[in-house]
Amino acid sequence: MRKNDMLEQWDRENFFHPSTHLADFARGDMPARVISGGKGSHITDRDGNRLLDGFAGLYCVNVGYGRTEIAEAIAAQAHELAYYHAYVGHGTEVSITLAKMILDRAPANMSKVYFGLGGSDANETNAKLLWYYNNILGRPEKKKIISRWRGYHGSGLITGSMTGLQAFHQKFDLPLPQVLHTVAPYYYRRDDLDMSEADFVAHCATELEALIEREGPDTIAGFIGEPVLGTGGIVPPPTGYWEAIQKVLKKNDILLIADEVVTGFGRLGSMFGSDHYGMEPDIITIAKGLTSAYAPLSGSIISEKMWKVLEQGTDENGPIGHGWTYSAHPIGAAAGVANLKLIDELNLIANNADTGPYLRQRLAEELGNHTHVGDIRGEGMLAAVELVQDRDSRTFFDAGDGIGGKVAAAMLKRGVIARAMPQGDILGLAPPFCLTRDEADQIATTMRDALIEVLG
Ligand code: PMP
Repeated sequence: MRKNDMLEQWDRENFFHPSTHLADFARGDMPARVISGGKGSHITDRDGNRLLDGFAGLYCVNVGYGRTEIAEAIAAQAHELAYYHAYVGHGTEVSITLAKMILDRAPANMSKVYFGLGGSDANETNAKLLWYYNNILGRPEKKKIISRWRGYHGSGLITGSMTGLQAFHQKFDLPLPQVLHTVAPYYYRRDDLDMSEADFVAHCATELEALIEREGPDTIAGFIGEPVLGTGGIVPPPTGYWEAIQKVLKKNDILLIADEVVTGFGRLGSMFGSDHYGMEPDIITIAKGLTSAYAPLSGSIISEKMWKVLEQGTDENGPIGHGWTYSAHPIGAAAGVANLKLIDELNLIANNADTGPYLRQRLAEELGNHTHVGDIRGEGMLAAVELVQDRDSRTFFDAGDGIGGKVAAAMLKRGVIARAMPQGDILGLAPPFCLTRDEADQIATTMRDALIEVLG
């Protein structure tokens, strides 16, 4: 029984939904989906439909829905002290504890955590810190940031610029001139089908080097990348990619930001993607998995090398002029502490290393022979199925056909959520870390049935 029959009308009249076709939604040409509950890997909508959430919200509800341990930690913190700020050396027990827990888990040579609210503002902080750093070092020209096409780093001004997806630039006058883009490490979509993976990696490094040369190494401050491309298509890097890229960055004294908003805290079956791929970042961006989305919280983990310079800056100029009212919010921090404890206690990272590969194996068994399945890939608890018109010649469907969206809709009808990724007919899967083998089976067979319904 619906509690409020006016809700859908209120939704269409009043709510500006992010990443939504505004006109279609207001007109009622697309469904309004109101989610009312969740438990484990499932959510329930207000019509009572129970859905297996193969994308963990927006790959963020990592420990799964309905965890009372986190809910209770949030409630206890709200009763004790809902808020105090972190300016001028203030803190709360819970935010200090969380910073310590993050550093205990972070890769070597990391020194401090700056807390924000979401991935976009964390990367905004990171861009500013690169500029601050180079200004302190007397290199005011060294400011540009290189990102990759298909990278996703947020949708603010500088972060929407770093995001290498057209929809985030169009009509917003982005990218800003300080941001440049280089080749996506997307071997399946290489231009030259005869190119080997090793040659493709060399090509990525050469293209990066050429861009740096063209612009001048003295103008480039940083390079930002997700260990595994996420929103741009869920694409693990080709073997040797990060090694080759880091060689170019080191040679040109360019800092590396590892955007681990998706990969941080276990999604790849390792605590951090940086460790997984041998990356040695100067900054690590964290968000989603830090609290499993039970409360908004993000962070920038800063290396010791950068920290020393930032400290020097404040010795020269006074307190750093950067901070949000809600930096290190105690409610978010309480969610973070409880979430990280739960990940350890339930051994969820090991489950990702086990059930994630099982999910891909089942996808390969159920879908691998379908003529329109071009690629099945992933790492840890991340998977993608890329659909093509013809797999031998690797030709893609017209974007206007919206095949990926149709298959995702056919899956939804059968009770399973996959995400049609925004560029290309790619079905993304990033289930909660508590996914069982039975649930993995259900995802694979449902995707098979949906694919047959849409493409035969
Ligand atoms: N970086 C990455 C890698 C992301 O996947 C996202 C969100 N999908 C962001 C940054 C931005 O985070 P938010 O949406 O919390 O601002």
